[in-house]
Amino acid sequence: MKKLLVVVAAAGFAWAAHAQSYPSRPITIVVPFAAGGPTDKSARDLAEALRKPLGGATVLVDNAAGAGGSIGANKVAKAAADGYTLLFHHIGMATMPTLVRNIPFKVESDFEYLGMVSDVPMTLIGRPTMPAKTYKELLTWIGQNKGKMNLGNAGVGSASHLCGLLFQNALQVDMTTVPYKGTAPAMTDLMGGQIDLLCDQTTNTSSQIEGKKVIGYAVTTSKPLTTPALRDLPTLQDMGLKGFDVTVWQGLYAPKGTPTDVQAKINAALKLALKDADFVKKQEGLGAVVVTDKRVEPAEHKLFVQAEIAKWSPVIKAAGVYAD
Ligand code: ASP
Repeated sequence: MKKLLVVVAAAGFAWAAHAQSYPSRPITIVVPFAAGGPTDKSARDLAEALRKPLGGATVLVDNAAGAGGSIGANKVAKAAADGYTLLFHHIGMATMPTLVRNIPFKVESDFEYLGMVSDVPMTLIGRPTMPAKTYKELLTWIGQNKGKMNLGNAGVGSASHLCGLLFQNALQVDMTTVPYKGTAPAMTDLMGGQIDLLCDQTTNTSSQIEGKKVIGYAVTTSKPLTTPALRDLPTLQDMGLKGFDVTVWQGLYAPKGTPTDVQAKINAALKLALKDADFVKKQEGLGAVVVTDKRVEPAEHKLFVQAEIAKWSPVIKAAGVYAD
């Protein structure tokens, strides 16, 4: 009995010591999409901003891209729960369980929720050679090109997939979808004219719209945006797509079972990172809104994700836009 107590006490001490010394080696943030895309850009900026509040720790980014974000999320769900492997993900955490019939992890029980990071609107954009220069002209072009149009996305279950499905459903048109490992390679093909359309976060599209490398048609939010490159774009709602309102939020997660002290340390660092002037400036310059309210609290973020699952599930089901 005495021996058991000693063992238990030693284990408790080791656990506490672990939390106290965290982080003592590099932390990896897994991004479930390709490098250079919007999720990756936000994660890399966040990794930089987390460095100081985590005592100068090295924070690396690992792009585990593919399958609409589920490969990277699954990698973290199955990783050691020690605080050294984290997941940076987006609205797909809430839409994927309904959008995709079989995902290899459980959003609600396989992760610890560390807090929300930002809200990012989306934009509907087209290849630079597109004859339609405005949303109204795009509608005419769509009417004339039924069966010939294609639309890129970041794979089944991604935000661009969701947005593209809702757009096709609202217009009652079918486009050939071209899946990529993220919207960075989709953007390259759009700029090169290999695909016609893409719906993507402003963090990937605002500078390309501004530089006239792609054509901006509309924003997916219910209100117009104020970012200079995007403020002239109409909302899809104002263009007649009733109720169209998609904002991509982004958050930070750890494998289930990560010690609570370690989670608390990461959340405290996250709160400081979200106030880092450089991080906020970079993100807001690209149209993202960095979160500072109670959604940064892990419990609130979990409630928020649950509410998002409840919000999106009927929308996706009503639109009949599932994928296997
Ligand atoms: N924008 C992407 C999405 O559609 C992912 C990415 O490449 O960041 O979910």
